[in-house]
Amino acid sequence: MSFHNISFACILVALFLFVSISFAWDWDTHRQLARDLLLKDYSGCASQIDAGAVAPDKDFKDFTNHHCYSLGCPADDKSFCPKNTNSCPALTQAAIWLARAKNETATCTKAYDFSVATHYTADAFDPMHQITGEDYDKCHAVYEDKIGTAVKKGKPFNISVICETPSQMFSFSQADFVQLERDVAKNLTLTAPLPLTPGTQPANASVAIATASSQYSAASSQANATDDSPSRTPVSPNVASQPNDTVIFAIVGLALFIFIFLVAIFMFVWLFVLGKKKK
Ligand SMILES: [Zn+2]
Repeated sequence: MSFHNISFACILVALFLFVSISFAWDWDTHRQLARDLLLKDYSGCASQIDAGAVAPDKDFKDFTNHHCYSLGCPADDKSFCPKNTNSCPALTQAAIWLARAKNETATCTKAYDFSVATHYTADAFDPMHQITGEDYDKCHAVYEDKIGTAVKKGKPFNISVICETPSQMFSFSQADFVQLERDVAKNLTLTAPLPLTPGTQPANASVAIATASSQYSAASSQANATDDSPSRTPVSPNVASQPNDTVIFAIVGLALFIFIFLVAIFMFVWLFVLGKKKK
């Protein structure tokens, strides 16, 4: 293998490291949730629903808009609870896309807009998006990936992730997923009418769920209480004063990419000069 190839491999590895950072509920979770809520009313728009469900992560990449610090903090250790609890850009974005859906006349574009709204709304209910300073790789990503895998299998599940940072267990079961769908469905009806069957109306959101999920559940009921006001004041993300984990990981990923890229260039030039001298 030549140094040229090694340089190229370095660049590929750097790129892989950079793009492998994920930022929210697993895409399988987002797609399943959107299908469950929207397919029955927009059965001819499956591909648009799938696309909309992951568009904020895949296409918009506006990762500073995917958190919600106003729903309560699911961490036992309060040092991981955000100080700025008035920052919920996820629900602000959801409201924007619900308004778009409401005004849209083309059926499948409407379905796409609703699906995008489900993404932001679901992110707002993600316990990992309600805390700061958690270990992304060993806690945040593991939790979301495990849930995504379980949801995709379509069988009853109950997963637990024991984190060191913060030091606590996060659990999520099939019942929690159903509750999440109810919470998202309810939020969709608040600012724009979404045709719902009676079965999808929110049940008692204050049902206690074991371990850390009880805090998730409490956050859900809190959200239902606070989001009942139809004129929710949009709040702008306060990233500068409170960088969230996604921003930090993006910066670390970029720095790593630049570093490996420079090393690759250096190796390539060094070999080129050395090769000339040998001749
Ligand atoms: Zn997201």
